[in-house]
Amino acid sequence: MSFTLAIVGRPNVGKSTLFNRLVGKRLALVDDQPGVTRDLREGEARLGDLRFTVIDTAGLEDATDDSLQGRMRRLTERAVEMADICLFLIDARQGVTPTDEVFADILRRKNAHVILGANKGEGRAADAGVLEAYALGLGEPLRLSAEHGEGMGELLAILQPLA
Ligand code: GDP
Ligand code: MG
Repeated sequence: MSFTLAIVGRPNVGKSTLFNRLVGKRLALVDDQPGVTRDLREGEARLGDLRFTVIDTAGLEDATDDSLQGRMRRLTERAVEMADICLFLIDARQGVTPTDEVFADILRRKNAHVILGANKGEGRAADAGVLEAYALGLGEPLRLSAEHGEGMGELLAILQPLA
């Protein structure tokens, strides 16, 4: 028995970076440039002794265009339906943004089982954003750094009971 984890959240919070770290192959496109077409990507994740399926959600990265936001929303809803549990990432260095609130609403409305991840959590610059994340009402945020590999043991401890 295994489970499926969907990594969700607005563009640029580090979803693909975490996906790549978990899957260990460059299956997901990581790109700083806006306007790059994305979709859903699925891979076999390894974290400690755990093996599970992970989905990287993506869309078009221009969040100012309503139709692209709609596409992002549909992709997120699809990923939630495919997954047993969602890892909802925010950028702790930026704090909670209005777009993060939109994603939190999608997850609440879908009744998703959510782990809240405060990514880019390395260093003091993330302290305030981690605290802000509590206000999303999705439980205690898990401080992570997808880029530096911090918080992976804590993520493992949360996921272990699902396996
Ligand atoms: P996505 O749009 O949510 O898939 O985000 P990406 O994985 O493409 O990452 C967006 C940017 O954030 C890239 O420049 C990453 O290198 C950077 N990034 C991802 N994770 C971290 C992290 O833990 N710390 C820092 N400082 N940057 C990160
Ligand atoms: Mg991505």
